[in-house]
Amino acid sequence: EANIVLSVRVARLGARYVLLVADDRTESHRLDAVRRDFIANISHELKTPIGAVGLLAEALQAASSEPDQVRRFAKRLTKESERLARITQEIIELSRLQAADALTEAEIVSIDRVVSLSLDETKVAADANNVTVISGKKTGALIYGDEALLVTALHNLIANAIQYSPRGSRVGVGVRNSDGVVEIAVTDQGVGIPEVELDRVFERFFRTDPARSRRTGGSGLGLSIVKHVVENHGGDVRAWSQLGRGSTFTIRLPEASRAVATAGDKK
Ligand code: ADP
Repeated sequence: EANIVLSVRVARLGARYVLLVADDRTESHRLDAVRRDFIANISHELKTPIGAVGLLAEALQAASSEPDQVRRFAKRLTKESERLARITQEIIELSRLQAADALTEAEIVSIDRVVSLSLDETKVAADANNVTVISGKKTGALIYGDEALLVTALHNLIANAIQYSPRGSRVGVGVRNSDGVVEIAVTDQGVGIPEVELDRVFERFFRTDPARSRRTGGSGLGLSIVKHVVENHGGDVRAWSQLGRGSTFTIRLPEASRAVATAGDKK
């Protein structure tokens, strides 16, 4: 994909010379395409639940004299509207992350606290799915960043691990720090991800199995949010998986002392 997009203007200079002015529009052209794609994807994602809400509302009207049916339709209506709210929330989060290339709320953050807040947030889902989440020892590791964003990122990894695991299985959350790098790993014994799709799971709206993950209410945005947060913190996120056996997602972040030094360099 080495297409270069130029906008060319031509001006005549007298009778013998022509002046050509070429502007390189490659980057803005690419961004336009990305934006168009994003909007097309959003529209597609929203169409299904919005359609369902409409149909369910009609069904409710038709079934108004049968309490059982009314209850069933109302329950599904609630589910679909929750899904709409979640997708909208994630789109807002993602666009906010894309707009800000620097962290505005950065401070020293305890990774142990990020882990325990994320575990609190995912406890209800773990109980509902009968998945046991086990966390390792505290490390005291610190990083320079935005605690709320880091909790969002880790929350998304743990929520996925729970969501894509069978009942009765375990999810592990472990932290290690060495050589100025803090590593947080989330391991599950779940369905796994086909190897060819492992790199693509971080793309916006990508799902390995749309039917399956639509049933579980996913939007395909969770991991792209994780990637944005981690990269905004100068780190990276990687995935390993064996189909049918489980997956491990690892976030690596620069430890505080080093991160603070780098932030200082930029001034
Ligand atoms: P979703 O909201 O669909 O979970 P994500 O961006 O969080 O969106 O994940 C993208 C896709 O990656 C998911 O639809 C799922 O197919 C796959 N995936 C993510 N985490 C896991 C996991 N722990 N185990 C198996 N598949 C996963």
